[in-house]
Amino acid sequence: MHDYDISWDYMLDDNVEYKNKKLLNNIIKDIKKTKLSLLKGIKNFSAFCIILPNGILGVYCNGTYKKPIIGLDIGNIISSCEKYNCNIGLAIKTTILHELKHAEQNYLNLKFNENEAEDFAYMNS
Ligand SMILES: [Zn+2]
Repeated sequence: MHDYDISWDYMLDDNVEYKNKKLLNNIIKDIKKTKLSLLKGIKNFSAFCIILPNGILGVYCNGTYKKPIIGLDIGNIISSCEKYNCNIGLAIKTTILHELKHAEQNYLNLKFNENEAEDFAYMNS
């Protein structure tokens, strides 16, 4: 049994600017410290920068709820922030929280619920 590797299903984005990688790492640390206790069964997670279709900001890799793996398209997040005039850090945080709620839904064996994920993300970011 091998651990899931996100590069099996998605192309990693090696061109994310250093400042955005640093921002992402700080947000991951903050979420681990302050938000994971709000999610049943989720004790840790990893997030990777990947390439997604236009307009898709993030994904939760289904089945990885024991240690959720999340993919983020930082380029798409930046484009959506330019379009809607929002803060990149806030958009990254909201996207991760949204996907972590899907990890909890997966852990609880519930159907993926977009409204619940959106509400959780906006209430906690
Ligand atoms: Zn979703």
